[in-house]
Amino acid sequence: MNYENTLAFAQQLDAADPLKEFRQQFLIPQHDGRDTVYFTGNSLGLQPRTTRDAILQELDDWAKFGVEGHFEARNPWFSYHELLTENAAALVGAKPIEVVVMNQLTSNLHFLMASFYRPRGLRYKIVCEQKAFPSDQYALETQVKWHGYEPEEAIIEVAPRAGEHTIRTEDVIAAIENAGDSLALVMIGGVNYYSGQLFDMAAITAAAHRVGAFAGWDLAHAAGNVQLKLHEWNVDFAAWCSYKYLNSGPGSVAGAFVHERHAHSNLPRLAGWWGHDKTVRFKMEKGFVPIPGAEGWQLSNAPVLSMAAHKASLEIFARAGMPALCAKSEKLTGYLEFIIDTVSAAHGNCLEIITPRNKAERGCQLSIVAHGYGRKLFDALTAKGVIADWREPNVIRTAPVPLYNSFEDVWRFGSVLNGALER
Ligand SMILES: *Cc1c(COP(=O)(O)O)cnc(C)c1O
Repeated sequence: MNYENTLAFAQQLDAADPLKEFRQQFLIPQHDGRDTVYFTGNSLGLQPRTTRDAILQELDDWAKFGVEGHFEARNPWFSYHELLTENAAALVGAKPIEVVVMNQLTSNLHFLMASFYRPRGLRYKIVCEQKAFPSDQYALETQVKWHGYEPEEAIIEVAPRAGEHTIRTEDVIAAIENAGDSLALVMIGGVNYYSGQLFDMAAITAAAHRVGAFAGWDLAHAAGNVQLKLHEWNVDFAAWCSYKYLNSGPGSVAGAFVHERHAHSNLPRLAGWWGHDKTVRFKMEKGFVPIPGAEGWQLSNAPVLSMAAHKASLEIFARAGMPALCAKSEKLTGYLEFIIDTVSAAHGNCLEIITPRNKAERGCQLSIVAHGYGRKLFDALTAKGVIADWREPNVIRTAPVPLYNSFEDVWRFGSVLNGALER
């Protein structure tokens, strides 16, 4: 596509955008009486207009029914999580039996590793990416120690090659093959939060399976951002949060995936009453009998107020559809890439995009290194109503989200960036 760095061109792309009406369904933070350029949907997604009513409905039903709301509420709380399963499964390319909405992301990783990280004898190692999100690093480190191993010995981090910013698939696969029989688990972020790199989950999962290890994925930056096919890719387990691309509010409830082939397995697990056979849950008897599938990994009854926000958001994703969102995302981020390159060229090539240039290896996020600039550059953007994300020493993360960002947002970002570099 031939892009142009003009407002008229950006507005023309917006007019032709089949998803353009979705922007109106979100509350966009204001700056000086106009919409901000909100490029941090990768950190906290914006609030859909339907969220407030969805939560109020549960508050009203709680007021009206008290405890009877478990069965009498318009959306009975007893089985509330079931209302989200179909849309959540579609989002990650899974069958309904493979998905459940529960807990928080890091909690889900731990509970899933309780089943899928079972180090025994010589098979105890974990392959992960270097500079994984800190919570994932801490989760792996403490899992390993909890089983009595040393992190330095058990955790194999795959790094970018010297002078590169992203990790090559062939290097991940080589690390898996080198570990061979000693490998218990591969656990990587499907899209890296820092570089925006999208990993080849199918190839890496297959490599893990070839050496007899499980493969699990943290999809915090992938769910709602890229097309996922967890079932087809044979992924063993995955977890994701709902407050980034999934627009379900700060700290909202998370998702978990367990492949259908483990649905009836007797993998050990850390259980709670909500994972117990529904037909006899309230008999309150001894002896845990798991619900088949991902639901059997639930522990607690659902946090309905968060679930209501997530349900409202998933309904928007179901209407838009991931294929249409990804088609727009490719164009929108392609436009951002063009704008950054254009602005950079006018300023001595001071901006370096460290996210892969290949569209198949990224979602909507572009991470930019601003050579020779510091925090002041970022503050100048913020002062002009651009909400992006700054990582020391000089990385700006930008995520134009196809549900609510426009091509005009991208053009405005370029114009503000250009102005900030000039000063
Ligand atoms: C955002 C994020 C988290 C956050 O975990 P919570 O348990 O939701 O606080 C963890 N891992 C990755 C890769 C993330 O991007």
